Amino acid sequence: MRKGKLLVISGPSGVGKGTLISKVLPRLEKTCLARSATTRPRRQHEKDGREYFFLSREEFEERVRRGDFIEHVRYGSNLYGTLRSEVERNLESGRNVILEIEVEGAMAVRRQMPEAVLFFIAPPSFDELRKRLIGRDTEISAEIETRLARAGEELALQEKFDYIVINDDIDRAADELEQKIRACLEGGKT
Ligand code: 5GP
Repeated sequence: MRKGKLLVISGPSGVGKGTLISKVLPRLEKTCLARSATTRPRRQHEKDGREYFFLSREEFEERVRRGDFIEHVRYGSNLYGTLRSEVERNLESGRNVILEIEVEGAMAVRRQMPEAVLFFIAPPSFDELRKRLIGRDTEISAEIETRLARAGEELALQEKFDYIVINDDIDRAADELEQKIRACLEGGKT
């Protein structure tokens, strides 16, 4: 059976990766989203095993020792990681797998799985990203500043990605992302 493709969707926090993926994923055949593990506290609307597997720091570190992660990073004061189990069995069974992760993790995935295709979702401007992060109202203001500082570093790495999509308008950007994913699923990485 033909193995699925690994599609990494990355970009700064607040840029709209999650919203874009929720629009594009239902349009794609045989494609799933891998759930990550994190030590971040669960937000009110989130459910364990749906948005993330929420782990204590001890559980997370134990799983790092067991080699359960393809990559893991520290982001702010929390740990996030891509679970091997979420990725490998799906690729083996012919499903494409999407990872929604930050930029350092995307670079680590590329080193380990060079066949992965990397998409960078960019904001129209840094100011717009700031507005979105504040408007999202999921983080306290110190956390927003940490995320914005990190966003500056992340934006500097966008040229290392295979594709860049600017999220200036959600519907337009979703169409562009879908078309780019289709091009890479049909034709291989170009
Ligand atoms: P949030 O706390 O907003 O859910 O996520 C913070 C950042 O961590 C986002 O940019 C998100 O894409 C990223 N992230 C989520 N899961 C993973 C993961 O497994 N690995 C890495 N490297 N980043 C992740």
